[in-house]
Amino acid sequence: MLDPSFPIEEIVRRVLTRLRAQEMAAPSADGENGIFTRVEDAVAAAREAAKEMLKHSMADRAAMVAAMRRTAEAHIKEFARLAVEETGMGRVEDKIIKNRLVVDKTPGVEDLATEAWSGDDGLTLLEMSPFGVIAAITPSTNPTETVVCNSIGMIAAGNAVVFSPHPAAKRTSLLAAALMNRAVREAGGPRYAVCALAEPTLEATNELMRHKDVSLVCATGGPGVVKAALSSGKKAIAAGAGNPPAVVDDTADIEAAARHIVAGASFDNNLPCIAEKEVIVLSNVADYLIFNMEKAGAYRVKDPRVIDRLVKLAFTPDGKLNRKYVGRDAKVFLRDVGIEPPDRDVPCLIMEVEPDHPFVQEELMMPLLPIVRIDKIKEAMDLAVEVEHANRHTAVMHSKNIDHLTYLAKAIKTTIFVKNGPSYAGIGVGGEGFTTFTIAGPTGEGLTSARTFTRKRRCVLVDAFSIR
Ligand code: NAD
Repeated sequence: MLDPSFPIEEIVRRVLTRLRAQEMAAPSADGENGIFTRVEDAVAAAREAAKEMLKHSMADRAAMVAAMRRTAEAHIKEFARLAVEETGMGRVEDKIIKNRLVVDKTPGVEDLATEAWSGDDGLTLLEMSPFGVIAAITPSTNPTETVVCNSIGMIAAGNAVVFSPHPAAKRTSLLAAALMNRAVREAGGPRYAVCALAEPTLEATNELMRHKDVSLVCATGGPGVVKAALSSGKKAIAAGAGNPPAVVDDTADIEAAARHIVAGASFDNNLPCIAEKEVIVLSNVADYLIFNMEKAGAYRVKDPRVIDRLVKLAFTPDGKLNRKYVGRDAKVFLRDVGIEPPDRDVPCLIMEVEPDHPFVQEELMMPLLPIVRIDKIKEAMDLAVEVEHANRHTAVMHSKNIDHLTYLAKAIKTTIFVKNGPSYAGIGVGGEGFTTFTIAGPTGEGLTSARTFTRKRRCVLVDAFSIR
């Protein structure tokens, strides 16, 4: 029976979207949409595209990037809805923000700045040249965001790319890849500059990474894919897991800190790798922070038995992260532990725990935010360093004390360090700077952009072109 509260137009829209996504993301005999069944065919097509890219001017590449932005922009809502529908994770309204972000703030060809030296001996250029074919492995948590962001950066840099997306987000990711491929082609670029694997199994991904014609591997995901990329025998850019702490001291604007932490930790149901995953607060301001977090909408769980039940949901009996609950709404957790949720939006659940609690130690990607109170600032900051587990990813601090901010920033060595704002300011939402969804901590490229996907080459002209 149809649910009368569910409008028929919505059902028709969903079915049509799903069918279109299936059609776009299906491998075709001629590879028209860039989706290939065999790794060999995908790499061969991308290799030809990479060769052809060399004949294109920078203006041509800029036109390809502009076309990708326009196409992605026209599909923002569809991407957001499809991703939530296919993966069951995240929030449509936040995925719309994330997709808009990559359209607007992913750098293009302007990112490729030439360095030059001129003098008595002539002119030397240091140019950013393409690698050729890139194998890009993408996650389920930001599926279209990563495909669009990587495509823009990699094509701007003059490469071709073969994507192997997460199987749980296959349909959505392949749709984005197929649309990016079409946009490049329609802007006058190669036929197959953006390719993808129709069946991105682990075996296929490993075959792709190790293929002789792949020059660069760019892996975005957890520890498994980082290890696989680093063992591929290729130059690898690895964007791995995080467990970002948010430290709050007693000089902070506590009301603002509470709002920012709740906003950052509940963004897309805590899926982003940069999202606050635990709060470490000085004891003398802890109650006021928690009061203000509740004021910002967070639901406080006090009963230790309920916290234990939440642990049983978040982890499987053998202690692994329970994928069934990753990126789910906070209300799902409340219902599943037998609490009727309030009749309002619940961005996240908060609970006080000890430092060794699994919610503090593990990267959950769930809207469950543990809070640890600590008496002394040095211990609080050292605990933050410990629970970040040397991921070198992201950390947040709310403080007006420059010594504290400097100590933690230096000690924790994260790629992103956000002061007095929500974590997402670190990728350009309400913070300065460009965006990316591939933050390469382990291999040190940091926030990736077109220039990351280039080889630096020196071109020397002797005894000429110095006109000073
Ligand atoms: P995941 O690690 O399960 O999968 C990511 C990709 O790697 C998928 O395409 C998957 O098929 C592939 N993969 C996984 N193990 C592999 C292996 N052994 N060999 C070859 N391929 C393998 O990650 P997910 O759940 O989709 O995404 C969440 C994780 O990714 C979190 O840990 C998050 O912190 C991290 N992440 C990091 C960044 C970043 O920029 N640093 C961005 C997004 C997500």
